[in-house]
Order: sequence, then C-alpha cells, then structure tokens
Amino acid sequence: MIGTDGLAALVDVLRARGYTVVGPTVRDGAIVLTELESAAQLPYGWGVDLDAGQYRLRSRTDGAAFANAAGPQSWKTFLHPARVRQWTAERTGGELVIEADDTTPPRFAFLGVRSCDLRAIAVQDRVLTAGPHRDPVYGGRRSGAFLVAVECTEPGGTCFCVSMGTGPAAGPGYDLVLTELVDDEGHRFWIRGGSAEGAEILAELSGEPASEAVCRAATGAVAAAAERMGRTMPDTDLRGLMARTLEAPRWDDVASRCLTCGNCTMVCPTCFCTTTEDVTDLTGDHAERWRVWDVCFDLDFSYLPGGPVRASPRSRYRQWLTHKLGTWYDQFGSSGCVGCGRCVVWCPVAIDITEEAAALYDWTRRAEEEPR
Ligand code: SF4
Ligand code: SF4
Repeated sequence: MIGTDGLAALVDVLRARGYTVVGPTVRDGAIVLTELESAAQLPYGWGVDLDAGQYRLRSRTDGAAFANAAGPQSWKTFLHPARVRQWTAERTGGELVIEADDTTPPRFAFLGVRSCDLRAIAVQDRVLTAGPHRDPVYGGRRSGAFLVAVECTEPGGTCFCVSMGTGPAAGPGYDLVLTELVDDEGHRFWIRGGSAEGAEILAELSGEPASEAVCRAATGAVAAAAERMGRTMPDTDLRGLMARTLEAPRWDDVASRCLTCGNCTMVCPTCFCTTTEDVTDLTGDHAERWRVWDVCFDLDFSYLPGGPVRASPRSRYRQWLTHKLGTWYDQFGSSGCVGCGRCVVWCPVAIDITEEAAALYDWTRRAEEEPR
C-alpha cells in the first residue's frame, strides 16, 4: 500500500527508468492524457459528470485522483497515433531520394489505465499485431509500454463495462494495478504487481503491506462501483442480435439523427482504421506519405469505382454498429466494444450505443411476439 507520496515516487521511478510517463491531467475543461513530469499534474480533486452528448468537470471534496471515468482520449492516441509520417521524398537535380521516417518507438508508461481501456488495448493488440501483417508502429510502441492500471471506484453516467464483461475490476495485462481509497483512514492506493518489472518497481517504492481491512475496503469499493453503472447493454447475444436486425426500421430512425461526423470512431479506444495521404509542396520537389486515422462514416471510406458502397447515413451507421457488436467477433474473436461510453459522451447529437442496441432488441422481441 502506498500514499500520495508513494504515487509521486512511482512517477519518478518510471521516469528514472527512461519511460515517458503519460497520465491524466486537467486541461481545457476536460481530463486529458498527457506526458507527466510529476504526479502533481494528476487531476486530484476533480470528478466528471457524463451523459449522452455531455461532459462536465466538477470539483470533488475528497481529493481523489482517479475518480473521474474515461476521458475524451484513450491510450490509442499514443499507441496508434492519429498521424504517422511514413516517408519523405526529395527531388534534387534529376534524382529522387526517398527516406523512411525514423521508427524508433518511444517507451511509454501509462498511469491510470482503466479496466475497460486495458481490454481495449488487448483488442487492438489482436487487431494490429496478432495477424500475419503486424503493424510496426503500434507493435513497436506497444512492446515497450508499461501499464499501470487503476480499478474504477466511481463509474460515469455513460459507463457500461459490467454488461460488456470488461470491468470495473482490472483484468490481466497490467504491470501494476492500483485501487484508490479515500476515507477516514486517509488517501491510499492498494498496489499490486502483474509482471516481473512491475514487481521490481514495487520493491523500489517505500510502501507498507496492505492490511486485510484495506484489501476488503478496496475490493468493496470496486464491487460497489459495479452496482452503479450509468448504462447497460441488453443482456442478449449481441452478435446474433446484429445479424437478425439488418432490416430493422430503427436504422432509419438513428440515421435521421446521425451527422456522420465520425466523432464516435475518433474517441473509441478500439477503432483502428487508417488511410494513406500523399502530399507535396508547391515546387513539387518535396513529397511526404502520411498514415492517418480513417472513419467508416466518411463517404470515401467505401469508395470503389462507380461510387461509395455505403452511400446513405443508414448504411454507414449500421456498418459501424454491426461491426462493433457483431462481425468483430468473426474477425477478431471478441466484441469491438469495451463499454467505456466515450462514443455516447462525445456524440454531438447524443446517440447512445446502448439505447440503439436496446431498441433493436425490443424490435426483435416484438417481432417474435406478433401472431403469425
Ligand atoms: S453516431 Fe454521433 S458521433 Fe457517431 S457519426 Fe453519428 S453523429 Fe457523429
Ligand atoms: S463503441 Fe463506444 S462504448 Fe464501445 S468501446 Fe467504442 S467508444 Fe467505448
């Protein structure tokens, strides 16, 4: 068990080991992920109120650092960056010289990885590194990363990890895991190792063994969080539900609201699609190739000779949702949704993935009940 001074020491130890420590901090009215020089930058005393299309910071009297649910960014911002330059080309005289970009990956230590995001990283591991074509950018950053998970003790109003089986207790995959406790006994973190390096770092911290009462309080706080989820997915086979509802009228309803802006894909910790952009300067002597995040809500995303395959908002929203909750299983053996709730919060028109799934579920049940 460590206190806030131990948490500060953890950041120092990770930095001394050469890690770029990334964690949450308050900036521009939100809790964002950034490089931390010290634990003093953590969002001590800040909570959030979350609802569909709404995100508000609020101050907390208990001074907790991690009681603030998932923020607008996920760790994919660092592991699978939005823009990566792949090569540059220079024309000098009659020669064209092409240089690949330096691919030396940074060594990140992520502080405050919630259980849903731990699962999301595992999903992206499967997508981007487990197949025959390993993504070198993601793979390089991921293989050097040190993960400090934080178990959720205060879910947001848009969280539904329990119904996706992804939280709030941290699953495997972390190097260290913390459970934050703030009560009459003080501000403490129950800390455990999950890897050999995690255990080594734990030994460098001057904590004390957690008493049985601390373990009980921490486990109880996580169990209580599971009872306070803001949202829930229908308790059904979601993959089968998506397959059975391809012609449901609900797709027209959601399409009439969806702006096809793609915010939901940008904030989603598992969305992974990219496209390639080539740019030149005005002289035509310098060119660059960039890999950038792409969005299945764009018309260009499904463009083939003759036009886009998914020309309507209905077909594009349906593609996104049925992939997330259905065909992701066929491709990667799991759901593409970990229940973080970000797409609900950051949708400008408050479209809620749990509400859409529930509406589709109701439609199938009504159809089953109708006399034939
Ligand atoms: S569901 Fe919301 S966030 Fe996603 S594309 Fe439609 S309007 Fe944008
Ligand atoms: S679909 Fe929405 S709730 Fe599910 S993982 Fe993506 S952003 Fe989170």
